[in-house]
Amino acid sequence: MEPKFKCVLLKISGEGLAGADKNGIDVGVVTKLALQIKKLHQAGVRMGIVVGGGNFFRGAKNAGEMMDRSVADQIGMLATVMNAMALKSALEGQAVPVRVFSGISVPQVCDNYTFRNATEAWLDGNVLIFAGGTGSPYFTTDTGAALRAIEMHCEVLMKATQVDGVYDSDPRTNPQAKRYDTITFSEVLAKHLNVLDMTAVSMAEAADLPVMIFSLNGENSIVNAVYGKEKCTIIKKQ
Ligand code: UDP
Repeated sequence: MEPKFKCVLLKISGEGLAGADKNGIDVGVVTKLALQIKKLHQAGVRMGIVVGGGNFFRGAKNAGEMMDRSVADQIGMLATVMNAMALKSALEGQAVPVRVFSGISVPQVCDNYTFRNATEAWLDGNVLIFAGGTGSPYFTTDTGAALRAIEMHCEVLMKATQVDGVYDSDPRTNPQAKRYDTITFSEVLAKHLNVLDMTAVSMAEAADLPVMIFSLNGENSIVNAVYGKEKCTIIKKQ
């Protein structure tokens, strides 16, 4: 069976690299992620991965009297670099060629993101990990993921979350909540469905980039999602 998508941007929240306490990095969890990414790379899928940083720090939550929002967001962006380094090591441990490009400059640990360097590394057959979000404060890694997906001409932005799609209400509190198989960007915006940062939704809509929301929790969920076999919601234009 052929993968449904050949060129994807996968967004993994920081929590996706953590264990049950949702903090820090769980090496076992990261190793399992790397094994799935390896399978897809071996199947010829071109993969870019944006990692979040919420398992360490979120700027909007931690900014306040003692810390300017821009500084808090810089800490958040640096947290994504730590996650990227962990995922990179796990992929190297599986002999997967991988490069990390960061929107925030940390030259001792990874390369700065430029479109040219990232494209070259991709054409050389590497998995790309995009760290540092957009490199600017007041954004999230969802928006960084939409941006990189559009720049790299990915077919789909796949957001791995804790739920298996977009619901009309919170399925954790409402057992009657209905999951959408597909939904339009305008409905997501109009109904304020909190599945993807609104800036990212607007960018994806403008670029006509479909967004898949699926659960990271299944045994092989990333692989299944790329093969079109995972329960999910697709957000699209029409
Ligand atoms: N961040 C930022 N600009 C970006 C992306 C991220 O300032 O373009 C900061 C922001 O403080 C954010 C933190 O990095 O809270 C971690 O990213 P995010 O909250 O998106 O991580 P996730 O929730 O996906 O783990």
